Order: sequence, then structure tokens, then C-alpha cells
Amino acid sequence: MNSLIRPHALQDASRHGAGIYLDHHSTTPVDPRVAEVVMRAMVEDFGNANSVDHKHGEVARHVIERAASLVAQLVTCDEADIHFTSGSTEAIRLAIAHAVGAATTLPLRIGISRAEHPAVLDTATRAQKLGLAKIMWIEVDAQARLDMDSLGRVLDDGVDLLCVMAANNEVGTISPLFKIFALADAAGARMLVDATQAVGRVRMNLDETPVEYLILSSHKIYGPKGVGALISSVYDASQLHGLAATHEATPNVPGIAGMGEACRLMHEEGEGETLRIAALRDQLQATLAARLPGMVINGPHNDRLAHNLHISIPGVANELVVQRLRGRVAISTGAACMSGAQSASHVLRAMGLPQDVQDGALRIGLGRFTTPEDVARAAAEIIAAVDDVTSALKGQIDD
Ligand code: PLP
Repeated sequence: MNSLIRPHALQDASRHGAGIYLDHHSTTPVDPRVAEVVMRAMVEDFGNANSVDHKHGEVARHVIERAASLVAQLVTCDEADIHFTSGSTEAIRLAIAHAVGAATTLPLRIGISRAEHPAVLDTATRAQKLGLAKIMWIEVDAQARLDMDSLGRVLDDGVDLLCVMAANNEVGTISPLFKIFALADAAGARMLVDATQAVGRVRMNLDETPVEYLILSSHKIYGPKGVGALISSVYDASQLHGLAATHEATPNVPGIAGMGEACRLMHEEGEGETLRIAALRDQLQATLAARLPGMVINGPHNDRLAHNLHISIPGVANELVVQRLRGRVAISTGAACMSGAQSASHVLRAMGLPQDVQDGALRIGLGRFTTPEDVARAAAEIIAAVDDVTSALKGQIDD
């Protein structure tokens, strides 16, 4: 098949009038190499993978099997444990519904860090409202790291399922998974790890940390939206709490193929990419810090996702800065993946940051296609936007 994807045309189009894209925690552009695989699965391997009476269905089934082997390679797991979903949110819901459904006693005691994604928080809260779960909160410190004393207390009290994110989607904090897994394991708690932001960027190996449920999403790693995976050796759809899955839906073969390719690229290129992006991030951080007096860096300086830069300019309202950058540089005031709602960040609150630091927070996320020129231009634009807001505020005060 002739290539229908022209990589450079795609990259140009993604920038068309929308400015430099620095919001890669929200979503990532699809890598043109992934798009090529998706397109082939749509146009050529279009069979229904559940209809294997003929060759078309069989070919589609093979596409899924190949994708599963590529996902398995990235996180070192058994291909048979991969259950493709419509994304991390669905994978999280299924994991919690399974943990509840398979529990011998209810309510299920769920240990949750206060910095978890709303997909976890909302599902667990709903389960608690229905009397199916009891949430046991684990505090985080000022860098959004799990408070180990708080974790110890909760584990001592007895936890059935411990939910921890491998990396935070706002301030980029990377969790010491190996250590947490060892503590949970010793306390007899099973684990749900939300690796949505971390996968491909942080080493993930299910042989070393055989957690019960691992959660992945394709659109955070340059794959298509609407596809993700729940990786679990115990998951069984017939044990889901509520309506048991009696019918397997037609799989999203193109999406799954794309996720497989995205994982393959992360497996092969993730390490080098992480180093390259970290250097760009550090450059951006240094330029901004030099020109924005009072700028605060939120999150840890070291154990932080390489593409994450979360800053605050106390006293400068973040939404005014983001408004001025509209069409020039795409950054966000917080977790834009939280249903678009403009609400205070529960993560920054849990970190105990002063109110003016929370109100001046800007999340910047670099990515695979970010260039040094992008970084230089974005820095200049951000500095100009902050200066503009500061002068406007000063003008108001002087008036
Ligand atoms: N978990 C984390 C840490 C996330 O960052 C996100 C998305 O922003 C999700 C879960 C939900 O992922 P999805 O968009 O695939 O449902």
C-alpha cells in the first residue's frame, strides 16, 4: 500500500495556528509511524477479530496478537495478561470493579494516594458511596511523593488494594515503585498501578513488580486516542461487580495496532528520547528561572518525568497567562485531562502549596517533536505573557 501519511505535512498541520504544543501530559500527537500502522489496520486488516471463521478475521486477530506482544515487551509481562480497553479510565474502572467483584469480603479496603488521577479517585469514591469500598487515604509530601509514614500506617491498618500512580500527571513526580511494591506485598496488599504517564519514560517491569493491575493509555505515548490496556493476570470479565461481561465487544483493531506500534517505538527509542527531552526541559527551566523572578518549580527536581516542567509565578494568575498564550504556546493551568473543568488542582492542594503558588501554576509538557527552536520561542512567549499580566496588574494597582 502506498503511504497515505506524510509525516512532515502532519507535523506542520498540528502546529497550524494553534501554536507550539507543550501540553504532552494531556495528550501526545500520534507519531506518523504509528498513524501508518493504524491506517493499514483500518484499510487492509479490516476484519472483525471476533469473526475468525475466515481469513479476514484471522488477520485482524493476528494484528491484535502482534500488538499485545509489543505492549508486553515494553513492560515485561505475559501477553495473555493484556486486556485492551478504551483507555486508562476504562482500565481503571474495570480493575476496581474486578477487585470488588472478586473480593471475598466487602467493603474492599482501598488505599489511595491523594495525588491520584480523578479516574481512580472518582471510581473508588463511587464504590465507597455504594458501600462496596472503604477508602484509606495516603498523604503526599510537598513534592507529591507518597508519605511513607502515612503509607505504613494505612498498610498496618489493612489494605486490600493499594492504588498508586507510577508518575504524576501534574507535577511529574515518579514513584519508587519497587519500594512501594515490596511494602505492599509484605503487608498482603495487592496493587493497582496507574502507569499512564510513566510508561516508556520510566522503566517498568512486571517481572520485578508483579502488581495485580497495571494501567496504560495509548494517547500519552504518541498512539491513537480511545485505546489503552489493563494488564492483569487475575482479571476475569465474568467477575466484574455489576453486570458481568457476557459478550466480548468487537475489538478496536486499528487503535490496538497503533498502541502496539507506539509501545514498540517507546521500547526502542524511549531511553534516548527521555535524555533528549530532559535536556530541552532543563534549558527551558533555566531560561524561565533567569527571567521570571520569584518563579517556583513544583514537584521534585530529580525524580520527575523528563518532559515535565511545572512552575508557579506566585501572584500572577495562571489563567491570565494561558489566555495570553492562546494560539502561540499551548500549556495548561493544571490537569486538562480532567474533563476540561477549571477547578483547583487536588494535587497541588494535597502537596500543601501556598494558595498563591497554586493560583499561579503552569504545567508545561515537552514531547517527541519539540525542537530547541520551539523551546526558545516558547520561553520568549511565556516570559512576555507573564510580563504582560504583571504590568496589567501593576497598572490596576497604580490606578
Ligand atoms: N491516569 C493518568 C495518570 C492520566 O494522566 C490520565 C489522563 O490524563 C488518565 C489516567 C486517563 O487516561 P485516558 O485518557 O486514557 O482515559
